[in-house]
Formats: sequence, C-alpha cells, structure tokens
Amino acid sequence: DRVKVKRALISVSDKTGLVEFATELAGMGVELVSTGGTRKALSEAGLTVRDVSDLTGFPEVMDGRVKTLHPGVHGGLLAIRDDEAHAKAMSDHDIQPIDLLVVNLYPFEETMKSGADTTTQVENIDIGGPAMIRAGAKNHGYVTVLVDPADYTSLLDELRTNAGETTFALRWMMAGRAYARTAAYDAAVSGWFAEQSGDTAPRRLSIAGELAESLRYGENPHQDAAFYRTGENRPGVATARQVQGKALSYNNINDTDAAFELVGEFDPARTKAVAIIKHANPCGVAEGETLIEAYRMALRCDPVSAFGGIVALNAKLDAASAREITEVFTEVIIAPDADDEAIEIVRAKKNLRLLLTGGLPDPRAKGRFVKSVAGGLLIQSRDAGVVDDLDLKIVTKRAPTEAELADLKFAFRVAKHVKSNTIVYAKDRATVGIGAGQMSRVDAAGIAARKAADATKAAGLTEPLTRGCVVASDAFFPFADGLLSAIEAGARAVIQPGGSMRDDEVIRAADEHDVAMVLTGMRHFRH
Ligand code: 5GP
Repeated sequence: DRVKVKRALISVSDKTGLVEFATELAGMGVELVSTGGTRKALSEAGLTVRDVSDLTGFPEVMDGRVKTLHPGVHGGLLAIRDDEAHAKAMSDHDIQPIDLLVVNLYPFEETMKSGADTTTQVENIDIGGPAMIRAGAKNHGYVTVLVDPADYTSLLDELRTNAGETTFALRWMMAGRAYARTAAYDAAVSGWFAEQSGDTAPRRLSIAGELAESLRYGENPHQDAAFYRTGENRPGVATARQVQGKALSYNNINDTDAAFELVGEFDPARTKAVAIIKHANPCGVAEGETLIEAYRMALRCDPVSAFGGIVALNAKLDAASAREITEVFTEVIIAPDADDEAIEIVRAKKNLRLLLTGGLPDPRAKGRFVKSVAGGLLIQSRDAGVVDDLDLKIVTKRAPTEAELADLKFAFRVAKHVKSNTIVYAKDRATVGIGAGQMSRVDAAGIAARKAADATKAAGLTEPLTRGCVVASDAFFPFADGLLSAIEAGARAVIQPGGSMRDDEVIRAADEHDVAMVLTGMRHFRH
C-alpha cells in the first residue's frame, strides 16, 4: 500500500510555506507541475516547474475559471494504476499519473469577512480546486491530497521515513481532511447565498466551521469539546485577541459570549456599560458616566455571585477600572480595547484572561442561532430586537416619569439576555435584583426581590434597593401575581411584552397601586 511520489500537482492560493515545501519535494526528485500563479512563485524561487498546460495541452482560459478542468488532470488523479483498462486509457490519451495533489482554494471565506461586493465574492468560488481535491481524495489508494499548509511537514516526514513513499494510513487521513475542506467550503458558499436571499429554511443545511482550538473538556470534565469559528465577521469571543491569561474553557467561552453580546446593547458614545456574568446569566449590569462607576453598580447587584465571573465592558478598559475589577476574583475580562496601563494591571493576575475585540457586536445584526437537539438542529435568526426600535405603549393611568422610562428600557435590554423566566429589577440604570431561569414568573420575581434584599444588606444600606425601582419581564405576566410580587418589593413601573389573556387584570393591578406600565409587544424568551 506504499506509493512512490513521482509527480506533484501544486495549485495554491495561500502560498504560505509553499517554496520551502516544494524545494524539499524537488530535492527528493519529485516532478513539480503547477498552475499560473503557483508556477510563477516556484520558478521565481529557482525551482523547475512544469506548467499544467503540459498535462492538458490546453491553455488556462477565462481568467483562470478553467485551468485544470481537463481529463489530462482528472485522468491523472482518478486512474486506478493497476487496472488494465485505466492504464490503457492513460497511455492512449497520454495521461500522466499525479501522485500528490497540493491545493488550497480561492479565499472565499476571507473575502466574505472583508465584506466584498457580490461580483468579487462570486469570482472567489473555486471550481477546479474542489474538483481536483475530490478526485484525488477518491483515489486515495494512489494519491495523497494536501489541502492545508499545516500538513506539509507531516508529508515530508513521511516521505523521508519511507524513502519517498506514502503510506495508506496517511493518504486515508488526508482524504478525510480533503473532503472536510470541500464540505466546509461549499457550506460557506451556500451560507453566503442563503444569507443574500434571506433563505432561512433551505432544504439542505450545511454549517461551516474552522477549528479554533480543541478544548480541555466541555461543560463538564467527562465531556470532550472543541471550539469552531464560523467566519462570521462579528466582534466577540470567537474573533477576539487574547492578550493574556490561561486558555479559555468551554464554559468561559459560552459565558463570555453572553457577557459581550449584552454590553453590545449599549452604545459607548452614549453611555458606559458593564455586565458581570455567571453561568451565562448576568448577576449585575449597569450603565454609568464612566466604566468604573458602571462596574461598581454592576458589582453591587450581586457581589457574592460576581466571584469567579466574567466581566464585559462596552468601552476601552482603563487603569482605574482594571484595578477594581482585579480586586474581585474574575475569570475573564472582555472589552473592545484596553489602555497599556490597564493591560499591565491585568497582567499581574496570571490566570485572568483578557480578550480584546476591536469593536462591539451590532445588536441588530442578522445572524443564525443554532442549537442541537437529539437527532436534529434547531435554527433561528438571532434575537435582534432592540427596545429603542419598539412602539412602546403606556397602558396605565400613570405614565412613567422620564427617569423611570430610562430605567425601564435599560431593564428590558438586560432582560433580553437573561434566561427565562426572567424578572429584572433596576434603578438608576443599574440592576438591583435579577431572577433568572425560573419555571414560573412569580418565582423569578421572588428570587429577584430576595437577591435585591441581599444586595441592600451587603451594601450596608437601610433603604431597600428595590424601593422605587422598575421591573422588566421577558414575557407577559400570565396572572397578576408576579406583578403584585414585584410591586410588593417596591417596583413603581413595569415593562413587559403584554399579550396575555389576562392583560386587563394585570393592568388593573398596576393601576390600583399607581404603578406605570409599558408594553413592548416583543417577547425576549431565552433558554
Ligand atoms: P494560481 O495562483 O496557481 O494561478 O491558482 C491557484 C488557485 O487556482 C488554487 O486556489 C486552485 O484551487 C485554483 N484552481 C485550480 N484549477 C482551477 C480551475 O480550473 N478553475 C478554478 N476556478 N480554479 C482553479
């Protein structure tokens, strides 16, 4: 099952490591054949390279759309060498065998990231490359296919160890990688088409991903895990630069994503915002004139849970904030940017991870949200609802004051990012109590009130933090009980989607307590 590598066809867009690799091959007596750009790069490096048109007897035409799509190439890749008929076809038509195929594709994914126009994007759909990769991989009994410069050394090592021959095991493994590459490539292409046309439920679905890293374990130590990048151009945990700290864990990545998507709701030109996240739920969120002010208020909401949390900021991390954040045991800080001094302060905590994203995610961005269920995938568009865009309806006798309205919008923005059932108490654009992930809305309200009482005590305050606060609910109140519980805790204004059969009863309860109520008409379930 060993195959001597005599002829290599190399056609690569990403020319990383190309010259070194090809030089080694040439040194082992491998004949090199290439397409236009690749051949130019190799001959400029002083290597002897045949042009692919030697194999095809046909020039590259149509701006490179047709370079290798020819029986002279595909026959050389697909022929079963020890099959008589195949061998005869090769000699009849002067087809030369290709033992090694080195191809990486037109940079469709990179082009997508750069936000190129449609024509450029379409021109970056590689046709001949995937065809050759699939052909060579099918014929892995004879052909080795390399689709990634990262695999060049494995092949060279193998050739050195085996006197210029490849083993079946290597060819098999590379064939698997080859098909993974063409599958991911076409998934990116089909995803792009679907996004352009808004096709949210295509008959067949492919999801593309590139391994960012293998993780030590998943949600629990007995689960395997890996992190993939989809190529979506969105500031966040997948695209951030890790400035320092240990490797991120599965839970870190999940929580950091939740944290950063939340602060992305706050425009840094208007306000500074900080969110502290534990187990994908915020345990404190606040706006402020400055980041440090916002951080203090966010921390006040639940200083106990903040221990070991993720801190997300919507603006450049400054030294003063870094100093205070690092006083509390924190797993990850994520921000668009950081001052040099702030980075130095974070560096003093060896394990603390600092991620810089270069920007904030757009809360209104389209995008795909995928969740797996046994035997299936659930796909939905991102929850791109933003309270500022909604037609808010005041349904009570009393309208909210200006300050209450600001708090209501703040609380609803936060509620969108809390697991359902959700009740958020807020005052002065800071959360004062969060009830997350409850099976009943009354329980969520009760837990939020209890947490607010704890926070009041921890802050050494005599007046309850919930006195005169506002309350947000991610979905309608099915009964008045949840609302009454919030009113009892001290809430004076409410924001909720509305739409319950008993809206009247709920509104009446608000009126009876002179509480102002705003309906958003939009629900923010999150599970
Ligand atoms: P080069 O830089 O050598 O001119 O082109 C290399 C690129 O062309 C590779 O990414 C390879 O996948 C792609 N390629 C090779 N043959 C064909 C073909 O026949 N049609 C198209 N569209 N691309 C090809």
